[in-house]
Amino acid sequence: AGGLYFVATPIGTARDITLRALDVLASADVIAAEDTRSLRRLMEIHGVPLEGRRILSYHDHSGTGTRDRLMAELAQGKSVAYASEAGMPLIADPGYDLGKQAAEAGFTVTCAPGPSAALTALTLAGLPTDAFFFAGFLPNAAGARRSRIEGLRDIPGTLVFYESPKRLAACLTDLAQVLGGDRQAAMCRELTKKFEQIRRGTLADLSAQYRDATVKGEIVLLVDRAHSPAVNDADVEEALRQALETHSV
Ligand code: SAM
Repeated sequence: AGGLYFVATPIGTARDITLRALDVLASADVIAAEDTRSLRRLMEIHGVPLEGRRILSYHDHSGTGTRDRLMAELAQGKSVAYASEAGMPLIADPGYDLGKQAAEAGFTVTCAPGPSAALTALTLAGLPTDAFFFAGFLPNAAGARRSRIEGLRDIPGTLVFYESPKRLAACLTDLAQVLGGDRQAAMCRELTKKFEQIRRGTLADLSAQYRDATVKGEIVLLVDRAHSPAVNDADVEEALRQALETHSV
């Protein structure tokens, strides 16, 4: 059926693609990708033939030319599949502008979901999963990075960051300084790949471990929410007694 199909691709292990994602890639009238080479390779690995179709290169910021073309295909009732380089499209990846425009124009927009580094890391980090905040990549400049972290200080959920290995040490130092070194955190590296690694500890521990380390690979950093100081029953009773005294005449 016609419409826009967002297709999730693996974040490391080729076999993490879903059967439905392969079906969508096999049957779409038009295929577009953030990285045409990696999608072509993935389709080859799984034996999905292109059959005369060309993979169009599309990125939200690469001008409106390709987007107009994809919209025109949708207007003709065609099915358009879109994949980003890895994981879920739109999650720190392109696709948002395309999806928004297609939905506003009244086309069906659907998704063949699959792996995403944020949810994979959250599953493994050992931090609370009942509420979490995806903060994406922190800014490069130190000042902007610190003020972004300050804005996240009181969020009542686990914070999830995407990070580059080069900036890991600087980022951990800033997180420890701004949020406090005693918060629990986890560094998740190379998820689903051969050298997958999870390091858990306080922000102080992790920033000390990585201060002078050379790290490679892809990284998700997670930080526990702020915990308010424990309140004991005696304090509550005393506060109530005082409140009642003030209000009785
Ligand atoms: N769309 C992707 C998703 O759904 O996770 C994210 C794309 S974003 C441009 C790339 C960043 O995601 C990397 O810099 C890293 O922070 C994180 N990432 C992607 N794959 C990863 C993996 N296998 N292990 C750890 N982090 C990963």
